[in-house]
Amino acid sequence: MLIRRTALLLCLAALCSAAAPKKAMILDGRNNHDWRATTPVLKQILEETGLFTVEVVTAPPDNEALASFAPNFSAYDVIVLNYNDFGPKNAGDWPEVTQLAFEKYVRGGGGVVSFHAADNAFPKWVEFNKIIGLGGWAGRNEKDGPYIRWRDGKVVRDDSPGRGGSHGPRHEFLVEIREPNHPITKGLPLKWMHAEDELYDRLRGPAERLALLGTAFSAPEIKGTGEHEPILFTIEYGKGRVFHTTLGHDVPAMQCVGFIATLQRGTEWAATGKVTQKVPADFPTADKVSVRR
Ligand code: ZN
Repeated sequence: MLIRRTALLLCLAALCSAAAPKKAMILDGRNNHDWRATTPVLKQILEETGLFTVEVVTAPPDNEALASFAPNFSAYDVIVLNYNDFGPKNAGDWPEVTQLAFEKYVRGGGGVVSFHAADNAFPKWVEFNKIIGLGGWAGRNEKDGPYIRWRDGKVVRDDSPGRGGSHGPRHEFLVEIREPNHPITKGLPLKWMHAEDELYDRLRGPAERLALLGTAFSAPEIKGTGEHEPILFTIEYGKGRVFHTTLGHDVPAMQCVGFIATLQRGTEWAATGKVTQKVPADFPTADKVSVRR
């Protein structure tokens, strides 16, 4: 009887842990992109998995109030960054105590998702750049780290001088999975068409402990680099896991099922180290975009 009761309790404990949603924070409030439009879409994409409870934390618009901005990072399993400090009105660093709290949270095993222009943020904050792996704009160049290239079937760190961050006009483009055995990419088609979006190129950064999951070819005839640019990647920082997607300039780009599914899978991996989700039936193919409106 005792054995049966113990087994039952173990079973219930397993059910409880499987059912307990992870706590996600979307951090917004400053961005050179329309965060007021994109945050509700991010929230809905994460909530529809049933895996997360999502809270939005909005940084104050004025720098005086930002000086006491101190979200409780440690209360969350994953922080989704829809934030940058771009532009004269937005320029403002987090107070040092908040920077240190964020670093400690990630180093201790916290999850982070860097979404599209979040990688434009904080060019001078050294540890932040290690956490996101690669960044762009805001004066970034060779002093900030190498370009990460995919050449001849492998990752190449390219130290050649030049700007960090650029993109040509929006267009549909092919995403190619370069690491099909990572939990985030396992089971995805190896090539899929992404809906019209910006194809970030020339990102630079420390790129330490970076796993390149997906690239897209930046075509020279549309102001691209002629390189396979990093689009989806992970970084490990201390015990923390970071999923970085450069996709998702605006709401139409975020309606791509490839964007939706990789964001859902990447956020689960950042929060837990595992991915339990099935690949959706409407995932795009190598020659056909798939969007949910
Ligand atoms: Zn953009």
